Parts: sequence; structure tokens; C-alpha cells
Amino acid sequence: MKTYYNVEMLPKEKVFRDPVHGYIHIQHQVVLDLVNTKEFQRLRRIKQLGTSSFTFHGAEHSRFNHSLGVYEIARRICDKFVRNYPTVEPGDGLWDDNERLVTLCAALLHDLGHGPFSHTFEKIFGTDHEDLTIQIITSPDTEINQVLREVGLDFPNQVAAVIAKTYPNPQVVQMISSQIDADRMDYLLRDAYYSGVTYGTFDLTRILRVIRPAEKGIIFENSGMHAVEDYIVSRYQMYMQVYFHPVSRGMEMVLYHLMKRAKDIYQNDLQEFHHNATFLEPFFNNTWELKDYLRLDDGVLTTYFSHWLDDSDPTLSDLAGRFLHRAPFKSVRFDREKDWPTIQAMQSLMEEMGYNPNYYMSTNNSFDLPYDLYRPHKAGSKTQIEFMEKNGTIVELSQASSIVSALTGKMRGDERLYFPREITHGFSEEGINLFDNLAEQFKSYIENDEIITE
Ligand code: ZN
Repeated sequence: MKTYYNVEMLPKEKVFRDPVHGYIHIQHQVVLDLVNTKEFQRLRRIKQLGTSSFTFHGAEHSRFNHSLGVYEIARRICDKFVRNYPTVEPGDGLWDDNERLVTLCAALLHDLGHGPFSHTFEKIFGTDHEDLTIQIITSPDTEINQVLREVGLDFPNQVAAVIAKTYPNPQVVQMISSQIDADRMDYLLRDAYYSGVTYGTFDLTRILRVIRPAEKGIIFENSGMHAVEDYIVSRYQMYMQVYFHPVSRGMEMVLYHLMKRAKDIYQNDLQEFHHNATFLEPFFNNTWELKDYLRLDDGVLTTYFSHWLDDSDPTLSDLAGRFLHRAPFKSVRFDREKDWPTIQAMQSLMEEMGYNPNYYMSTNNSFDLPYDLYRPHKAGSKTQIEFMEKNGTIVELSQASSIVSALTGKMRGDERLYFPREITHGFSEEGINLFDNLAEQFKSYIENDEIITE
């Protein structure tokens, strides 16, 4: 049975100015109350793109901006659905506007569990932003949970179910999470806008015009095929040109090793820190709770990095300096099957030069699947993008677009070897190579085209 909630509207709509969408329109009291919680405000202090701003200096926007943007796109989709496809009877595949509030709240809160430099932090401390999002929504200790419970006692669980993709209505789930959802549409436009590139742009207005509800979720009118095709190509280009940029990844490698060194020092009692990293201690000890996680943001971590600059551990202070003063590790692309012996030889040369392999060298692979078909027998299979022709026939995207067909089911990206920049640029002021013939040997692997050097 459907639960109907206490849905209080604001006496007058509120708007937030947004550079991507013009205005974000807030109409429900609960949405405004969620924005005003301390857990949501914390997202202002977490950059959306982590280390990408070291490459694209405009990309300083926060998870807060993006979350509001996802909310606004979801709101516009609900408006379009209720205007054009209101349900008449249950199960008719049309839109039931009683789903609006749970959809809007899930859209707004979908990234709530992200922490500072999320992906790197997760690798070091084993946190999971999706689990944390659900915890923040369902834990009775958060302001978010208290606001959601005012709508209905079970409402936090319903919002969490949308994010966990277990919510029964596939239209709601796919609007927040699918191969063409409000989340992706916002981050592509927003990340393109703030990084200053034009790759990520596509015709959102047109997509919102042709999107429609269907029995199994969300579908598009046939006439919108080129707008959807352009969105897929934009997404592919953003991954190749912005998200997987080798220099941003070079900064991510420095950050990873810096946090790893700090954790190793702490856990193995190698030495005392000069300054206590109080907020990180529960993570070093692996005793952290939700309240510890919610105290972290980009500023807290960078403050600790500044303290570590004058720490007596030379590795820690060196890596902190490389991060704060932007000295990314350099990289070369390689093919694991063909080039692995060369990579191993290069790694042993680095060791001979005195670099601790645990903190100064690593491989990094970044791959993305631009678009995929629904594969019923594969774990984590995606819902495919489909169009409805005038006569009701359904056509899948890669059948309709030869451009998308070329990208379908193929992982795109690369694997790179990362190393300190001075190995290949290691000349002192007097022009003497700091590493003599070892570095020369290292460079010769790159210069002789034994691996791909772009
Ligand atoms: Zn998101």
C-alpha cells in the first residue's frame, strides 16, 4: 500500500542562483530544511573534482553546487512528467506525482557521504561513500534524518532505498541512477563549465523535452536521439580529457602516497608526529564512527598536510610539499601485456636511485565504459537507453546511433606508470644530472619508444 506523506509546501518558492541552471527552485519546506542541515552544508567544503583543479584551475566547485544541480534537474523532470504523463491507474507506466518528494530528496542527498578527496581516502581507509550516504540518511543522530522523519517515520528508509537502487519504482531509481540520469547530466555540464572546457556540453533542454516515463523506467522519444547521442559522446570526451587527465592523476598519486605514509607512520609507531592529526586518528586506528567522518573536509586535510611539511619524517614532509606546492608525479602510458618487463626494469632503477617504492612509484589505471547494453547475465549490468517510435516500437540507443555503437561495451582509458618528476628532469642548477647513469637508463626506456610515451 502506498504511504502518503506530510508534504508541506513553502508559502513562497525560494530560488538559488546557479551558473549552470540559472535558478534552483525550492518549493518544499523539507527540501529547504535539508539544505540547511549541517551534514548538507558540509558539502560546501568538499571539492567536486578533487585533484582536477590542479590541472583545470577553475574546477574549484563543490559537492554542494552539484547536489543542488541534480535536485533541480530531477525537479524539472518531475514537472515535465506530471504535465504530460500523469498516471491514471496504478501500473499504467505513467508518472505518479506522489513519488516527487522521495525523488527530489534522493537527488539532493545522493552524494552526501562523499568525503575529502573521496576516491583516494577510500583506498587508504576503506570507507565507502555510498554506504556513508545511506548511514547519514538513516542514522537517528543526524539532522538529515530528523528532517526526513518529519515527512514520515519510514521516509528516511525510502530515500535510502532510492540511493541503494532497491526502491520499487524504477522510474524514480533511473532518474537518480542510470546511464542517463540527473546526476550525470548535472556533473557533465557543471564540470565542463567550471573546468572551462566545452566537451561536456549537450542540449539538456532538448533531453528534458523528450524524456518520458515508461513501465520499466525512463525512456526517450525517438526525435531526441541526437541529443542523447551527443550526451554520450560528451561524457566520453569528459572522461578522456578532464577526469582522466594524467596530471590530475599525478597529483592523486602524490596524495595517495602522502596519506599512506602518514597512516604507516602512525600504525607502525615509526615516530611521533610533530603535530597531532586529531581528526584522522580514528581512521589511523580503524575505530572511526560516522561522527568522525563528518568532521572531515578538504580544509581539515590540507591543514594536516601543512603541519606535515615540517615533520621530521623526510618522506612525509617531502610528499606534503609535493602536494601543497603542486609537484605532480610524471607518467608514461603503457600496455600491461606488452610492456610489463620494461615497467619492472624502470621500477628497479627507481629503487636503485634510492626511492622507496612504497611511496614514490605506482601504476594507475583509469578506465570507463561510455555506454553499455543491458546484459542480463552479468553482475552490475546497466539499464540500456531506449527510444520510443511513434508507433510504440522500442529501439535501443546503439541500434539507432552508429556513433554510440562505436563506443558501446568498450572500456576506454589507459594505464600509466607514475614516478617523481626529477628522474627525467633531474638536473641541478649547475646542469649536473642528479642521478647520473641510472636516470639516463630510465629515460632511455622512454626515449627509445620501448613504451608509449604520450
Ligand atoms: Zn553526484
